[in-house]
Amino acid sequence: SSEPKGDLGLIGLAVMGQNLILNAADHGFTVVAYNRTVSKVDHFLANEAKGKSIIGAHSLEDLVSKLKRPRKVMLLIKAGAPVDTTINHLVPLLDKGDIIIDGGNSHFPDTNRRYEELKAKGIYFVGSGVSGGEEGARYGPSLMPGGAEEAWPYIKNIFQSIAAKSDGEPCCDWVGPAGAGHYVKMVHNGIEYGDMQVICEAYDIMKRIGGFTDKEISEVFAKWNKGVLDSFLVEITRDILKVNDTDGTPLVEKILDTAGQKGTGKWTAINALDLGMPVTLIGEAVFSRCLSALKEERIRASTKLLGPEIPKDAVKDKQAFIDDLEQALYASKIISYAQGFMLIRQAGKDYGWKLNNPAIALMWRGGCIIRSIFLGEITKAYRADPDLENLLFDKFFTDALNKAQPGWRRSIGLATSYGVPTPAFSTALAFYDGYRSKRLPANLLQAQRDYFGAHTFRVLPEAANDHYKEGEDI
Ligand code: NAP
Repeated sequence: SSEPKGDLGLIGLAVMGQNLILNAADHGFTVVAYNRTVSKVDHFLANEAKGKSIIGAHSLEDLVSKLKRPRKVMLLIKAGAPVDTTINHLVPLLDKGDIIIDGGNSHFPDTNRRYEELKAKGIYFVGSGVSGGEEGARYGPSLMPGGAEEAWPYIKNIFQSIAAKSDGEPCCDWVGPAGAGHYVKMVHNGIEYGDMQVICEAYDIMKRIGGFTDKEISEVFAKWNKGVLDSFLVEITRDILKVNDTDGTPLVEKILDTAGQKGTGKWTAINALDLGMPVTLIGEAVFSRCLSALKEERIRASTKLLGPEIPKDAVKDKQAFIDDLEQALYASKIISYAQGFMLIRQAGKDYGWKLNNPAIALMWRGGCIIRSIFLGEITKAYRADPDLENLLFDKFFTDALNKAQPGWRRSIGLATSYGVPTPAFSTALAFYDGYRSKRLPANLLQAQRDYFGAHTFRVLPEAANDHYKEGEDI
Protein backbone atom coordinates (compact mmCIF):
# COMPACT_ATOMS: atom_id res chain seq x y z
CA SER A 1 0.00 0.00 0.00
CA SER A 2 1.04 3.64 -0.19
CA GLU A 3 0.51 4.20 3.54
CA PRO A 4 3.63 5.88 4.88
CA LYS A 5 5.74 3.56 7.04
CA GLY A 6 8.42 5.84 8.46
CA ASP A 7 8.57 6.29 12.24
CA LEU A 8 11.41 8.78 11.98
CA GLY A 9 12.96 10.77 9.18
CA LEU A 10 16.66 11.49 9.44
CA ILE A 11 18.52 14.13 7.49
CA GLY A 12 22.31 13.94 7.41
CA LEU A 13 24.19 10.80 6.55
CA ALA A 14 27.57 11.70 8.06
CA VAL A 15 29.00 9.72 10.99
CA MET A 16 26.36 10.64 13.55
CA GLY A 17 23.32 10.34 11.30
CA GLN A 18 24.22 6.94 9.84
CA ASN A 19 24.93 5.45 13.23
CA LEU A 20 21.79 6.82 14.84
CA ILE A 21 19.71 5.43 11.97
CA LEU A 22 21.25 1.96 12.39
CA ASN A 23 20.63 2.19 16.14
CA ALA A 24 16.96 3.14 15.64
CA ALA A 25 16.51 0.35 13.07
CA ASP A 26 17.97 -2.17 15.53
CA HIS A 27 15.25 -1.10 17.96
CA GLY A 28 12.50 -1.86 15.48
CA PHE A 29 11.83 1.62 14.11
CA THR A 30 11.47 2.31 10.42
CA VAL A 31 13.74 5.18 9.49
CA VAL A 32 13.62 7.26 6.33
CA ALA A 33 17.10 8.47 5.43
CA TYR A 34 17.97 11.58 3.44
CA ASN A 35 21.12 13.55 2.74
CA ARG A 36 21.73 16.77 0.79
CA THR A 37 24.26 14.97 -1.39
CA VAL A 38 21.79 12.33 -2.53
CA SER A 39 24.40 9.84 -3.76
CA LYS A 40 25.16 9.18 -0.09
CA VAL A 41 21.59 7.93 0.39
CA ASP A 42 21.99 5.27 -2.30
CA HIS A 43 25.40 4.29 -1.01
CA PHE A 44 24.09 3.94 2.54
CA LEU A 45 21.04 1.93 1.41
CA ALA A 46 23.19 -0.45 -0.62
CA ASN A 47 25.72 -0.99 2.14
CA GLU A 48 25.35 -0.33 5.89
CA ALA A 49 21.55 -0.09 5.76
CA LYS A 50 21.03 -3.21 3.63
CA GLY A 51 18.42 -5.63 5.02
CA LYS A 52 17.36 -3.24 7.79
CA SER A 53 14.15 -1.25 8.32
CA ILE A 54 15.65 1.75 6.55
CA ILE A 55 14.06 3.50 3.56
CA GLY A 56 15.87 5.98 1.33
CA ALA A 57 14.53 9.36 0.25
CA HIS A 58 15.84 11.33 -2.72
CA SER A 59 14.34 14.69 -1.81
CA LEU A 60 12.81 16.38 1.19
CA GLU A 61 9.35 15.92 -0.43
CA ASP A 62 10.07 12.22 -0.78
CA LEU A 63 11.21 12.06 2.86
CA VAL A 64 8.10 13.81 4.17
CA SER A 65 5.76 11.64 2.06
CA LYS A 66 7.20 8.49 3.64
CA LEU A 67 6.58 9.51 7.27
CA LYS A 68 3.68 8.62 9.56
CA ARG A 69 1.86 11.53 11.21
CA PRO A 70 2.71 13.49 13.20
CA ARG A 71 5.89 13.47 11.16
CA LYS A 72 9.13 13.38 13.07
CA VAL A 73 12.17 14.67 11.21
CA MET A 74 15.57 14.71 12.85
CA LEU A 75 18.52 16.74 11.56
CA LEU A 76 22.06 15.52 12.16
CA ILE A 77 23.92 17.98 10.01
CA LYS A 78 26.63 20.58 10.41
CA ALA A 79 25.56 23.12 13.04
CA GLY A 80 24.92 26.75 12.09
CA ALA A 81 23.48 28.08 8.83
CA PRO A 82 22.89 24.58 7.31
CA VAL A 83 20.31 23.92 10.03
CA ASP A 84 18.35 27.10 9.19
CA THR A 85 18.53 26.40 5.45
CA THR A 86 17.28 22.86 5.90
CA ILE A 87 14.48 23.91 8.26
CA ASN A 88 13.39 26.58 5.78
CA HIS A 89 13.13 24.02 3.00
CA LEU A 90 11.36 21.55 5.22
CA VAL A 91 8.69 23.72 6.84
CA PRO A 92 6.50 24.30 3.73
CA LEU A 93 6.33 20.51 3.30
CA LEU A 94 5.11 19.87 6.85
CA ASP A 95 1.76 20.28 8.59
CA LYS A 96 0.87 21.82 11.92
CA GLY A 97 1.75 19.43 14.74
CA ASP A 98 4.67 17.87 12.90
CA ILE A 99 7.98 17.69 14.73
CA ILE A 100 11.48 18.83 13.78
CA ILE A 101 14.37 17.68 15.94
CA ASP A 102 17.86 19.18 15.70
CA GLY A 103 20.35 16.66 17.08
CA GLY A 104 23.48 18.60 16.10
CA ASN A 105 25.76 20.69 18.30
CA SER A 106 23.75 23.87 17.90
CA HIS A 107 24.38 26.81 20.19
CA PHE A 108 21.37 27.20 22.49
CA PRO A 109 20.49 30.81 21.49
CA ASP A 110 19.98 29.48 17.94
CA THR A 111 17.73 26.78 19.33
CA ASN A 112 15.76 29.36 21.34
CA ARG A 113 15.22 31.35 18.14
CA ARG A 114 14.26 28.34 16.01
CA TYR A 115 11.88 27.13 18.70
CA GLU A 116 10.05 30.48 18.67
CA GLU A 117 10.00 30.76 14.87
CA LEU A 118 8.60 27.27 14.44
CA LYS A 119 6.13 27.64 17.29
CA ALA A 120 4.62 30.58 15.38
CA LYS A 121 4.14 28.18 12.45
CA GLY A 122 2.59 25.41 14.53
CA ILE A 123 5.62 23.13 14.19
CA TYR A 124 7.01 21.52 17.33
CA PHE A 125 10.74 22.08 17.50
CA VAL A 126 13.04 19.98 19.67
CA GLY A 127 16.73 20.75 20.18
CA SER A 128 18.45 17.68 21.46
CA GLY A 129 21.96 17.27 22.77
CA VAL A 130 23.48 14.06 21.46
CA SER A 131 26.64 12.83 23.13
CA GLY A 132 28.86 9.81 22.87
CA GLY A 133 30.31 10.29 19.41
CA GLU A 134 30.11 7.60 16.75
CA GLU A 135 30.06 4.67 19.18
CA GLY A 136 27.34 6.31 21.28
CA ALA A 137 25.19 7.08 18.27
CA ARG A 138 25.44 3.47 17.14
CA TYR A 139 24.90 1.62 20.41
CA GLY A 140 23.34 4.12 22.82
CA PRO A 141 24.05 7.84 23.12
CA SER A 142 23.18 10.20 25.89
CA LEU A 143 20.23 12.22 24.56
CA MET A 144 19.20 15.58 26.03
CA PRO A 145 15.99 16.76 24.35
CA GLY A 146 14.36 20.10 25.07
CA GLY A 147 12.02 22.52 23.32
CA ALA A 148 8.35 21.96 22.51
CA GLU A 149 7.15 19.61 25.23
CA GLU A 150 4.06 18.76 23.11
CA ALA A 151 6.45 16.70 20.95
CA TRP A 152 7.78 14.60 23.81
CA PRO A 153 4.97 11.98 23.98
CA TYR A 154 5.54 11.28 20.26
CA ILE A 155 9.31 10.92 20.38
CA LYS A 156 9.79 9.59 23.90
CA ASN A 157 9.66 5.93 22.93
CA ILE A 158 12.13 6.29 20.06
CA PHE A 159 14.51 8.43 22.10
CA GLN A 160 14.47 6.29 25.22
CA SER A 161 14.79 3.09 23.19
CA ILE A 162 17.90 4.17 21.32
CA ALA A 163 19.56 5.95 24.29
CA ALA A 164 22.23 4.40 26.51
CA LYS A 165 20.97 2.64 29.63
CA SER A 166 22.25 3.01 33.15
CA ASP A 167 21.07 0.36 35.63
CA GLY A 168 18.23 -0.29 33.19
CA GLU A 169 17.14 3.36 33.02
CA PRO A 170 17.46 5.27 29.74
CA CYS A 171 20.02 8.10 29.70
CA CYS A 172 17.42 10.34 28.14
CA ASP A 173 14.55 12.35 29.53
CA TRP A 174 12.84 15.63 28.82
CA VAL A 175 15.19 18.47 29.86
CA GLY A 176 13.03 21.61 29.61
CA PRO A 177 11.70 24.26 27.23
CA ALA A 178 13.18 26.13 24.25
CA GLY A 179 16.96 25.71 24.00
CA ALA A 180 17.28 23.88 27.34
CA GLY A 181 18.37 20.60 25.74
CA HIS A 182 21.20 22.19 23.80
CA TYR A 183 22.04 24.31 26.84
CA VAL A 184 22.51 21.24 28.99
CA LYS A 185 24.58 19.63 26.24
CA MET A 186 26.77 22.74 26.21
CA VAL A 187 27.37 22.51 29.96
CA HIS A 188 28.06 18.78 29.53
CA ASN A 189 30.81 19.66 27.05
CA GLY A 190 32.21 22.28 29.42
CA ILE A 191 32.31 19.70 32.19
CA GLU A 192 34.08 17.35 29.79
CA TYR A 193 36.79 20.03 29.34
CA GLY A 194 37.15 20.21 33.13
CA ASP A 195 37.29 16.44 33.63
CA MET A 196 40.02 16.13 31.01
CA GLN A 197 42.05 18.97 32.51
CA VAL A 198 42.01 17.56 36.09
CA ILE A 199 43.14 14.17 34.77
CA CYS A 200 45.98 15.86 32.86
CA GLU A 201 47.08 17.71 36.00
CA ALA A 202 47.25 14.47 38.00
CA TYR A 203 49.32 12.89 35.22
CA ASP A 204 51.67 15.88 35.11
CA ILE A 205 52.25 15.80 38.88
CA MET A 206 52.93 12.05 38.83
CA LYS A 207 55.33 12.45 35.91
CA ARG A 208 57.21 15.58 36.93
CA ILE A 209 57.22 15.41 40.71
CA GLY A 210 56.74 11.69 41.36
CA GLY A 211 59.10 10.71 38.55
CA PHE A 212 56.67 7.96 37.50
CA THR A 213 56.88 6.26 34.11
CA ASP A 214 53.81 6.29 31.88
CA LYS A 215 53.31 2.61 32.67
CA GLU A 216 53.28 3.38 36.40
CA ILE A 217 50.87 6.26 35.86
CA SER A 218 48.64 3.96 33.82
CA GLU A 219 48.60 1.56 36.78
CA VAL A 220 47.54 4.36 39.13
CA PHE A 221 44.67 5.30 36.80
CA ALA A 222 43.71 1.63 36.55
CA LYS A 223 43.45 1.50 40.35
CA TRP A 224 41.54 4.79 40.53
CA ASN A 225 39.14 3.48 37.92
CA LYS A 226 38.01 0.86 40.42
CA GLY A 227 37.09 3.46 43.04
CA VAL A 228 35.22 6.77 43.26
CA LEU A 229 36.85 8.02 40.05
CA ASP A 230 35.49 5.13 37.96
CA SER A 231 34.69 6.81 34.63
CA PHE A 232 35.12 6.61 30.89
CA LEU A 233 37.78 9.33 30.82
CA VAL A 234 39.92 7.72 33.54
CA GLU A 235 39.55 4.39 31.75
CA ILE A 236 40.75 5.73 28.39
CA THR A 237 43.61 7.58 30.13
CA ARG A 238 44.72 4.26 31.65
CA ASP A 239 44.72 2.71 28.17
CA ILE A 240 46.32 5.67 26.36
CA LEU A 241 49.31 5.65 28.74
CA LYS A 242 49.95 1.97 27.92
CA VAL A 243 50.27 2.52 24.18
CA ASN A 244 53.85 2.32 22.94
CA ASP A 245 55.21 3.52 19.62
CA THR A 246 57.09 1.07 17.37
CA ASP A 247 60.33 2.00 19.18
CA GLY A 248 58.85 0.75 22.46
CA THR A 249 58.48 4.16 24.11
CA PRO A 250 55.12 5.69 25.13
CA LEU A 251 53.32 7.23 22.17
CA VAL A 252 51.66 9.92 24.28
CA GLU A 253 55.07 11.49 25.00
CA LYS A 254 55.54 12.10 21.27
CA ILE A 255 52.32 14.07 20.89
CA LEU A 256 52.68 17.84 20.47
CA ASP A 257 51.48 19.50 23.69
CA THR A 258 49.15 22.10 22.20
CA ALA A 259 45.44 21.51 22.73
CA GLY A 260 42.72 22.22 20.20
CA GLN A 261 39.11 23.13 20.89
CA LYS A 262 35.86 23.33 18.98
CA GLY A 263 34.32 26.01 21.18
CA THR A 264 31.65 24.42 23.36
CA GLY A 265 33.80 24.78 26.50
CA LYS A 266 34.25 28.42 25.59
CA TRP A 267 30.48 28.84 25.18
CA THR A 268 29.99 27.49 28.70
CA ALA A 269 32.60 29.84 30.16
CA ILE A 270 31.14 32.84 28.32
CA ASN A 271 27.66 31.94 29.50
CA ALA A 272 28.94 31.63 33.07
CA LEU A 273 30.29 35.20 32.84
CA ASP A 274 26.99 36.36 31.35
CA LEU A 275 24.98 34.80 34.16
CA GLY A 276 27.46 35.86 36.85
CA MET A 277 28.16 32.33 38.03
CA PRO A 278 31.66 31.37 39.26
CA VAL A 279 32.18 28.38 36.98
CA THR A 280 35.89 28.71 37.51
CA LEU A 281 37.09 25.20 36.75
CA ILE A 282 35.66 25.04 33.24
CA GLY A 283 37.03 28.55 32.67
CA GLU A 284 40.51 27.43 33.71
CA ALA A 285 40.21 24.31 31.57
CA VAL A 286 39.50 26.49 28.52
CA PHE A 287 42.33 28.90 29.39
CA SER A 288 44.70 25.97 29.95
CA ARG A 289 44.09 24.90 26.36
CA CYS A 290 44.76 28.48 25.26
CA LEU A 291 48.02 28.60 27.25
CA SER A 292 49.12 25.25 25.81
CA ALA A 293 48.64 26.67 22.33
CA LEU A 294 51.35 29.28 23.00
CA LYS A 295 54.01 26.63 22.48
CA GLU A 296 56.62 28.82 20.76
CA GLU A 297 56.37 31.46 23.48
CA ARG A 298 56.51 28.81 26.20
CA ILE A 299 59.72 27.45 24.75
CA ARG A 300 61.29 30.92 24.92
CA ALA A 301 59.91 31.55 28.42
CA SER A 302 61.28 28.23 29.66
CA THR A 303 64.83 29.59 29.24
CA LYS A 304 64.15 32.96 30.88
CA LEU A 305 61.65 32.59 33.72
CA LEU A 306 62.86 30.74 36.76
CA GLY A 307 61.20 28.12 38.94
CA PRO A 308 62.29 25.57 41.53
CA GLU A 309 64.33 22.48 40.68
CA ILE A 310 62.49 19.22 41.24
CA PRO A 311 64.78 16.79 43.09
CA LYS A 312 64.66 13.09 42.18
CA ASP A 313 63.44 12.22 45.67
CA ALA A 314 60.74 14.91 45.84
CA VAL A 315 58.23 12.21 46.79
CA LYS A 316 59.22 10.15 49.81
CA ASP A 317 56.02 8.21 50.46
CA LYS A 318 54.65 7.21 47.06
CA GLN A 319 51.44 5.68 48.39
CA ALA A 320 50.55 8.79 50.42
CA PHE A 321 51.39 10.93 47.37
CA ILE A 322 49.02 8.92 45.16
CA ASP A 323 46.27 8.88 47.77
CA ASP A 324 46.47 12.66 48.15
CA LEU A 325 46.37 13.08 44.40
CA GLU A 326 43.29 10.88 44.12
CA GLN A 327 41.57 13.12 46.65
CA ALA A 328 42.68 16.25 44.75
CA LEU A 329 41.25 14.87 41.54
CA TYR A 330 38.03 13.74 43.19
CA ALA A 331 37.46 16.99 45.09
CA SER A 332 38.20 19.13 42.02
CA LYS A 333 35.75 17.07 40.02
CA ILE A 334 33.05 17.51 42.66
CA ILE A 335 33.61 21.28 42.57
CA SER A 336 33.42 21.30 38.78
CA TYR A 337 30.09 19.48 38.72
CA ALA A 338 28.74 21.63 41.54
CA GLN A 339 29.68 24.70 39.49
CA GLY A 340 28.09 23.22 36.37
CA PHE A 341 24.84 22.62 38.23
CA MET A 342 24.99 26.13 39.74
CA LEU A 343 25.13 27.44 36.19
CA ILE A 344 22.23 25.26 35.05
CA ARG A 345 20.19 26.36 38.06
CA GLN A 346 20.86 30.02 37.29
CA ALA A 347 19.97 29.49 33.62
CA GLY A 348 16.68 28.01 34.76
CA LYS A 349 15.98 31.19 36.75
CA ASP A 350 17.26 33.72 34.21
CA TYR A 351 15.69 32.10 31.16
CA GLY A 352 12.51 31.03 32.94
CA TRP A 353 13.07 27.34 32.26
CA LYS A 354 11.66 24.64 34.50
CA LEU A 355 14.49 22.11 34.34
CA ASN A 356 14.46 18.44 35.13
CA ASN A 357 17.51 18.35 37.43
CA PRO A 358 17.51 14.67 38.49
CA ALA A 359 17.19 13.67 34.84
CA ILE A 360 20.16 15.81 33.78
CA ALA A 361 22.60 13.81 35.90
CA LEU A 362 20.98 10.56 34.81
CA MET A 363 21.33 11.53 31.14
CA TRP A 364 25.08 12.00 31.69
CA ARG A 365 25.35 8.78 33.67
CA GLY A 366 25.81 6.66 30.55
CA GLY A 367 26.43 6.94 26.83
CA CYS A 368 28.48 10.12 26.90
CA ILE A 369 32.12 11.10 27.39
CA ILE A 370 31.66 12.19 31.03
CA ARG A 371 29.86 9.01 32.06
CA SER A 372 30.93 7.83 35.50
CA ILE A 373 29.92 6.14 38.73
CA PHE A 374 29.97 9.57 40.31
CA LEU A 375 27.00 10.76 38.21
CA GLY A 376 24.94 8.06 39.88
CA GLU A 377 25.55 9.89 43.17
CA ILE A 378 24.55 13.22 41.62
CA THR A 379 21.36 11.62 40.30
CA LYS A 380 20.60 10.38 43.83
CA ALA A 381 21.23 13.82 45.28
CA TYR A 382 18.81 15.52 42.87
CA ARG A 383 16.23 12.77 43.23
CA ALA A 384 16.30 13.28 46.99
CA ASP A 385 15.91 17.05 46.45
CA PRO A 386 15.16 18.24 42.90
CA ASP A 387 15.61 21.87 44.02
CA LEU A 388 18.88 21.25 45.87
CA GLU A 389 20.47 24.67 46.37
CA ASN A 390 23.98 23.37 45.75
CA LEU A 391 25.40 19.91 45.14
CA LEU A 392 27.93 20.62 47.90
CA PHE A 393 25.04 20.65 50.41
CA ASP A 394 24.14 17.05 49.64
CA LYS A 395 25.50 14.93 52.47
CA PHE A 396 27.37 12.52 50.18
CA PHE A 397 29.30 15.39 48.60
CA THR A 398 29.76 17.42 51.80
CA ASP A 399 31.30 14.35 53.43
CA ALA A 400 33.43 13.58 50.38
CA LEU A 401 34.91 17.10 50.33
CA ASN A 402 35.45 17.22 54.07
CA LYS A 403 37.39 13.98 53.76
CA ALA A 404 39.28 15.03 50.62
CA GLN A 405 40.38 18.51 51.56
CA PRO A 406 43.58 17.76 53.52
CA GLY A 407 45.04 15.59 50.73
CA TRP A 408 43.79 18.02 48.09
CA ARG A 409 45.67 20.86 49.82
CA ARG A 410 48.84 18.76 50.16
CA SER A 411 48.81 17.89 46.46
CA ILE A 412 48.43 21.50 45.41
CA GLY A 413 51.03 22.59 47.97
CA LEU A 414 53.50 20.09 46.59
CA ALA A 415 52.82 21.07 42.98
CA THR A 416 53.10 24.78 43.79
CA SER A 417 56.35 24.35 45.71
CA TYR A 418 57.89 22.50 42.76
CA GLY A 419 56.48 24.82 40.10
CA VAL A 420 54.10 22.39 38.39
CA PRO A 421 50.92 24.20 37.28
CA THR A 422 47.58 22.98 38.60
CA PRO A 423 45.11 25.56 37.31
CA ALA A 424 42.04 23.36 37.69
CA PHE A 425 42.95 21.80 41.05
CA SER A 426 43.88 25.23 42.41
CA THR A 427 40.86 27.13 41.17
CA ALA A 428 38.62 24.39 42.55
CA LEU A 429 40.24 24.74 45.97
CA ALA A 430 40.05 28.53 45.83
CA PHE A 431 36.35 28.24 45.02
CA TYR A 432 35.88 25.77 47.87
CA ASP A 433 37.58 28.09 50.34
CA GLY A 434 35.70 31.10 49.02
CA TYR A 435 32.35 29.33 49.11
CA ARG A 436 32.87 28.21 52.71
CA SER A 437 34.04 31.69 53.82
CA LYS A 438 31.45 33.46 55.88
CA ARG A 439 33.39 36.65 55.31
CA LEU A 440 35.32 37.61 52.18
CA PRO A 441 37.39 40.74 51.56
CA ALA A 442 34.65 42.23 49.39
CA ASN A 443 34.05 44.74 52.22
CA LEU A 444 37.33 46.40 51.28
CA LEU A 445 36.46 46.13 47.63
CA GLN A 446 33.16 47.92 48.21
CA ALA A 447 34.99 50.62 50.16
CA GLN A 448 37.39 51.04 47.23
CA ARG A 449 34.51 51.29 44.79
CA ASP A 450 32.86 53.88 46.94
CA TYR A 451 36.12 55.82 47.39
CA PHE A 452 36.75 56.33 43.69
CA GLY A 453 33.31 56.10 42.25
CA ALA A 454 30.79 56.93 44.99
CA HIS A 455 29.13 53.57 44.41
CA THR A 456 27.88 53.51 48.04
CA PHE A 457 27.99 50.46 50.31
CA ARG A 458 25.82 48.60 52.74
CA VAL A 459 26.57 47.87 56.37
CA LEU A 460 26.70 44.45 58.03
CA PRO A 461 23.64 43.65 60.16
CA GLU A 462 25.79 43.42 63.31
CA ALA A 463 27.44 46.79 62.59
CA ALA A 464 24.20 48.74 62.16
CA ASN A 465 23.70 51.72 64.48
CA ASP A 466 21.90 55.08 64.49
CA HIS A 467 24.34 56.35 61.98
CA TYR A 468 24.47 53.37 59.64
CA LYS A 469 21.28 51.42 59.19
CA GLU A 470 21.43 47.76 58.17
CA GLY A 471 21.06 47.07 54.47
CA GLU A 472 20.75 50.72 53.50
CA ASP A 473 22.84 52.09 50.67
CA ILE A 474 25.12 54.68 52.26
P1 NAP B 1 29.13 16.93 10.21
O1 NAP B 1 30.47 16.63 9.63
O2 NAP B 1 29.05 17.91 11.30
O3 NAP B 1 28.15 17.41 9.05
C1 NAP B 1 28.06 16.71 7.82
C2 NAP B 1 26.61 16.57 7.40
O4 NAP B 1 26.00 17.87 7.31
C3 NAP B 1 26.47 15.93 6.05
O5 NAP B 1 25.33 15.12 6.05
C4 NAP B 1 26.29 17.13 5.15
O6 NAP B 1 25.65 16.85 3.95
C5 NAP B 1 25.43 18.00 6.01
N1 NAP B 1 25.45 19.40 5.61
C6 NAP B 1 26.47 20.25 5.65
N2 NAP B 1 26.12 21.44 5.18
C7 NAP B 1 24.81 21.33 4.78
C8 NAP B 1 23.88 22.23 4.23
N3 NAP B 1 24.20 23.50 3.98
N4 NAP B 1 22.62 21.77 4.00
C9 NAP B 1 22.29 20.50 4.26
N5 NAP B 1 23.13 19.61 4.79
C10 NAP B 1 24.37 20.02 5.07
O7 NAP B 1 28.46 15.54 10.65
P2 NAP B 1 28.59 14.69 12.00
O8 NAP B 1 30.00 14.63 12.48
O9 NAP B 1 27.86 13.44 11.77
O10 NAP B 1 27.80 15.57 13.07
C11 NAP B 1 26.44 15.94 12.90
C12 NAP B 1 26.06 16.90 14.01
O11 NAP B 1 26.18 16.22 15.26
C13 NAP B 1 26.94 18.13 14.11
O12 NAP B 1 26.18 19.22 14.56
C14 NAP B 1 27.94 17.75 15.16
O13 NAP B 1 28.51 18.87 15.80
C15 NAP B 1 27.09 16.93 16.09
N6 NAP B 1 27.80 15.96 16.91
C16 NAP B 1 28.85 15.26 16.42
C17 NAP B 1 29.50 14.33 17.21
C18 NAP B 1 30.64 13.53 16.66
O14 NAP B 1 31.26 12.79 17.45
N7 NAP B 1 30.93 13.61 15.38
C19 NAP B 1 29.07 14.10 18.50
C20 NAP B 1 27.98 14.79 18.98
C21 NAP B 1 27.35 15.71 18.17
P3 NAP B 1 26.52 16.58 2.60
O15 NAP B 1 26.88 15.13 2.64
O16 NAP B 1 25.59 16.91 1.50
O17 NAP B 1 27.72 17.48 2.66
